[in-house]
This record gives sequence, C-alpha cells and structure tokens, in this order.
Amino acid sequence: MIKLSKSIISAAEKKRVLDVLDKEFLGMGNEVSEFENALSQFFGRPMVCVVNGTAALQLALQACGVGPNDEVLVPSITYLASFQAISATGAQPVACDINETDLLIDLEDAKKKITSKTKAIMPVYYAGDSGNLDLLFKFASQNRIRIIEDAAHAFGTIYDNKKVGSYGDITCFSFDGIKNITSGEGGCIVTSDTTVLNKIKDARLLGVKKDTEKRFSGKRSWDFDVSSQGWRYHMSNIMAAIGIEQLKRFDELSEKRKKLAIYYDQLLKGSNKVKSIKRDYKNIVPHIYVVTINGEVERKSIQEKMLIKGIEVGYHYQPNHLLSFYKLNNKLPLKITESIFPRLLTLPLHPDLSLDDIKYVVNELNKII
Ligand SMILES: *Cc1c(COP(=O)(O)O)cnc(C)c1O
Repeated sequence: MIKLSKSIISAAEKKRVLDVLDKEFLGMGNEVSEFENALSQFFGRPMVCVVNGTAALQLALQACGVGPNDEVLVPSITYLASFQAISATGAQPVACDINETDLLIDLEDAKKKITSKTKAIMPVYYAGDSGNLDLLFKFASQNRIRIIEDAAHAFGTIYDNKKVGSYGDITCFSFDGIKNITSGEGGCIVTSDTTVLNKIKDARLLGVKKDTEKRFSGKRSWDFDVSSQGWRYHMSNIMAAIGIEQLKRFDELSEKRKKLAIYYDQLLKGSNKVKSIKRDYKNIVPHIYVVTINGEVERKSIQEKMLIKGIEVGYHYQPNHLLSFYKLNNKLPLKITESIFPRLLTLPLHPDLSLDDIKYVVNELNKII
C-alpha cells in the first residue's frame, strides 16, 4: 500500500523514548527543555512547545488578547484546527477566499472583510508554501492587526533566505505524526514578543506563574497564585524525546520530500488533465502534494479506483465556511474556494516513498482519469 502520508521513525527515536521510560520522568522536564533549546537554535529566536498545533494556535491568539467579540481572518481551505482554535477563544473565524495560483489566503478578499472587530489574521502556509510574506506582513501592519501564522505545513520552508518562524510576528507549528517533523503529537509557538511568550509559558501549565522553570529543574510549584485562565497544554518528555531525534534528521527528511515533489512536477508537466501547483521546492519543504483535476471529475471514484491499485489519495481540505458550526457567520460565497475544492486531489508524499512509487502513482492516475 502506498500511503498518503505516514510517520517516519528510526531506531534513534525508539531508543530515546526508551531512555525516557527508563528514567521514569514522563511529564514535562529535561527532554522538553532540550527540545525547546534545539528548536530555538533552529529558528534563531525563543519558542515554547505545547501539546499540539491546535493548542499552539489557541494559546497564541489568547496571548494576543483575542477573545469574544473579536474577529480573525483565515482562509476557508485549511485543516479544521485553524477554525476551532479561533472559536475556542470565543472569537469569530472570518472565512476568506484563496488565490487560484497557490491556494493561499487572498489578501484582496481579506481586505474586504476587515471590520472594527478584526484583531488578527491567521494565514495558512498550505502544503508548505508561505507565499509572499512581505505582502502579508505589510497587510497586517497597515491594518494594525496581529499575524498568527499557521505554519503547521511549513516546518523548514525558507522565504527570502530566512526560515519561516525565524522572523515575523507569531508562528505556530504542529509536530503531529505526519507533519514534516513529529514528536508523536506536539506543537510550538515561535515569537520575539516576550510578553506573549511568557503568557503562553504560564497558560500551558494551568496559568501557574513561572511553573515552567520549576519543571525544567525537576521541581514543581506547591504554593502559587493564578491570575488568568490556563490549560494542561504542555508537552511531555516522551513526545520531546521523539522530537529531538526527528530534528537531527530533518535535513534528510526534508530533502526527500523536496525530491519527490520535484519528480511529481516533472512527470505531470505535459498533462492537460492533472495540473500541479507551481511551487519553488528549492525553498519550500512540501508537507502535502496537491494537484487540480481539469474538467468534470468524480473524485470519489478516482479515490476508490486508486485504492484498488494500492494507492491512497485524499483532498485537503473541506472548506470550513460550509460546516454547520461556522456557516451562519460566514454567509458570503467564496468563489475560488468553492470552484476549486471539488477538483483538488492530494497524492501520496512522505519520505519513505521512492521515485518509482511516484512514477507508479502518476501512471495509475493518468490511466484512471
Ligand atoms: C496539523 C495542522 C494543525 C494542527 O496541528 P495539530 O498538531 O494536529 O493539533 C493546524 N493547522 C493545519 C493547517 C494543520 O495541518
């Protein structure tokens, strides 16, 4: 079976997890501290690890003061987590359209949706592509709103010679099992804003002030005061153990993803039925490989027929503004989102695939279509 995506785990991760189990300190301690230091070096700025990417987004929004009666601009085509993280704060996700070329948030449409309640924009770096960050950052500063980047797909992506997350406002990543690197589950927030960072550090441990420092030295807080809402959103040593070893292997993992995506592009170049999305894989680490199918397509039947050939395909993502929970407040149709979604198809992409696997996928897809 050629899987759409999967975790890639070597002997190093297994050994490191066993070490943690042997030490019998499974919660948040040394390994989380070590993973945070390694990631901080990777990005060249401070960061905090949390239990998953959704929590990262929610805590980032809340640390910026986003809450009830506020609005956050977000593209409709994204993982449900972006929308749920916004509504978890009590704020309203305002669904925006995407550009046809790169499937990233359409800033023209976002501009039309700005109101006095708009506090932030949450761009989603779909498939690993950040798009033009200069334009995005300019848009946010002109409109005096914060940028909470949903960079769950974009770990390792470079824009203008700089890593995504190494600059900008607040960048959130996910380390779930199938992302560019994993810590089993997990996520993080990277920012130079120390006020935001310290709020998140407390909020991930039930709002107990400076509990992080205690835990990293193997202690806990017995006497404390709490002045804000917090959650149990911290990362565990078991998760961090996986993440530490994954980060060491990141060059190998990301090079493989890039190589496979470039090969897909090459094989699909002449096709008039299956169109790849133009992306610069010298700088972009692809999390998923998405194509559009031209003409009338029965996507479900393509999916079933591919499965018979041992190939999993999918489609990312159902537009969130059409879901019952969000549609009442997102009444306007999103033209490009709604016309492109039925034609989106995600092909298998993970570092355990070979070039021959990719060739097989493209051949079978061409035959079926
Ligand atoms: C994976 C993902 C998230 C959430 O991350 P989790 O770690 O799964 O909570 C958020 N946004 C996007 C676009 C994602 O793909």
